[in-house]
Amino acid sequence: MAAARAGELGAKVILVEKNPGLGVKLLLTGGGRCNLTNKIEDPRVFVARLGGNGKFLLAALYKFGVTETLDFFHSHGLKTKVENNNRVFPASNKAAAVLAVLLQELQKYQVAIRTSSPVKKIVSQDKKIVKIVLTSGQEILANNFILATGGKSYPQTGSSGDGYKWLAQMSHSIITPRPCLTPLLVGADFIKALEGLSIIEAKLNLYFGAKKIASTSGDVIFTATGLSGPAALDLSRLIDPEAIKDLQVEVDFLPQLEQSALDKKLQQVLTGGTKQIKNSLEGLVIPKFKPILFKLSKINPDKKSNLISRQERLTLVKLLKNFKLKIKALAGFERAMITKGGADLTEIDPRTMHSKIISNLFICGELLDLAGPTGGYNLQICWSSGYLAGESAAAGLKYKL
Ligand SMILES: Cc1cc2nc3c(=O)[nH]c(=O)nc-3n(C[C@H](O)[C@H](O)[C@H](O)COP(=O)(O)OP(=O)(O)OC[C@H]3O[C@@H](n4cnc5c(N)ncnc54)[C@H](O)[C@@H]3O)c2cc1C
Repeated sequence: MAAARAGELGAKVILVEKNPGLGVKLLLTGGGRCNLTNKIEDPRVFVARLGGNGKFLLAALYKFGVTETLDFFHSHGLKTKVENNNRVFPASNKAAAVLAVLLQELQKYQVAIRTSSPVKKIVSQDKKIVKIVLTSGQEILANNFILATGGKSYPQTGSSGDGYKWLAQMSHSIITPRPCLTPLLVGADFIKALEGLSIIEAKLNLYFGAKKIASTSGDVIFTATGLSGPAALDLSRLIDPEAIKDLQVEVDFLPQLEQSALDKKLQQVLTGGTKQIKNSLEGLVIPKFKPILFKLSKINPDKKSNLISRQERLTLVKLLKNFKLKIKALAGFERAMITKGGADLTEIDPRTMHSKIISNLFICGELLDLAGPTGGYNLQICWSSGYLAGESAAAGLKYKL
C-alpha cells in the first residue's frame, strides 16, 4: 500500500522483499479468506477498539480510513461482503483477490519489485539513511525510505523482526515485542482430550486471583494445549505475560443463558428423564465435552437423569458457566497472529508516519507499537499507516526533525 501510494504520486519506487513473492502473510490472513478490515467507519470508534495507543492512528484514519480503504478495493473491482461483527472479506473468500489488487496497483505505477532480496543492513549517518545493503551485497540509494518489515509473528512468512533491530541501531526506542492474538496455553491434564472442541459464541472471563479483570466473546476452539479461536486470541491481547502465574480463564459455554435460566433448563431436561445422563443434555452440552464434564463433576455418566441430585445439577451449571482453567503461558511468536509492542509511537509523527529521529525515514504497518483485536483491525492499521507513509515519503518534502 505504501509503495503503491508513493508510486501513484509520481515517486520512483523500489519495493524490496526478502521472499520470492509478495504478500506471503497476507495470503494466510483470515484462514486464507483475508478479513481485510472492520466496517467501523467512524475513526474515533475504530481507535477506541484498538485501546492503548490507538489514538495514534486517528490522523491516518481520517486520511485513509475504512471507507477509503473499501472504496480503494471496490474501485479496483474487488467485491466484498460483511460478516458478523462487521468483519469484511472479499466476496470470493480469497485473500489472493486482495493481493491481486495491490499487485495491479504496483504495476500500474511502475514500482520496481525486487523479490528474493533480503535487506542485510541500513546505513545511516547524521540522522539520515544513506543506503540499504542487500545480503547479495547490492546497495540501494534513495531520497526517502519506508520501513514496513512487519513484526515477529509467523516468522516463516518473512517477518523475523529485522525492522526492530535496524530501528534500534538508528536510536529509535522499541517497546518490547510480544506475541499477541495468540493461543492461551493451560495447565489442565485433561486438555488434550478436548482438542478440536469448538464453541460458537462463548464468553471468556479473565481472572487475576478472585478478581475478574477482562472478558471477550466469540468462538473458542480447544487445542491440544489450550484455547484458541477469536475470543481466546482477543483475550491474549489483554494479558500481561509478567503476571501470568496468577491468571485463570473462565469459559462460559452458554453465555446466552443466565445461571438461573440454565439451572431451570437442566431441571426440565433431567426431571422425569429416564435416559442415562450421558445420553441426555442435547443442545446444552457438546458431546465431546461430556466425558470431561462427568469426570470433573464426579457424576456417573450411566446414572439415570431423574436420579441426578440438586447438588450434582448445580455442579453441572457451574462447570458450564464457570469452567475455570489456569493459564500457563501464551503461545509464542510462531503461533501469534500479531506482535504487540514495536516502534515507540512517541518518536513518529502520526500525521505523516515520519520518524522524528531519522530525517528520511517513514515507518508503517505492524512494526508500529499498535495491536488491534481480531476482526480486520490489524490490516486496517497497515492500510492506513501505509497509505500515509507512501504519501509523505513521495511528497519529497524536506522534513525537519
Ligand atoms: C495467520 C494470520 C492470520 C491473520 N489474519 C488477519 C486477518 O484476517 N485480518 C487482519 O486484519 N489481520 C490478520 N493478521 C495480521 C496481519 O496479517 C498483519 O498485521 C499484517 O500482515 C502486517 O502487515 P505488514 O505489511 O506490516 O507486515 P508483513 O505482512 O509481515 O510484511 C512484512 C514483509 O517484510 C518482509 N521483510 C522482513 N524483513 C525483511 C528484510 N530483512 N528484507 C526484505 N524484506 C523483509 C517480509 O518478508 C514480509 O513480506 C493475520 C496474521 C496471521 C499471522
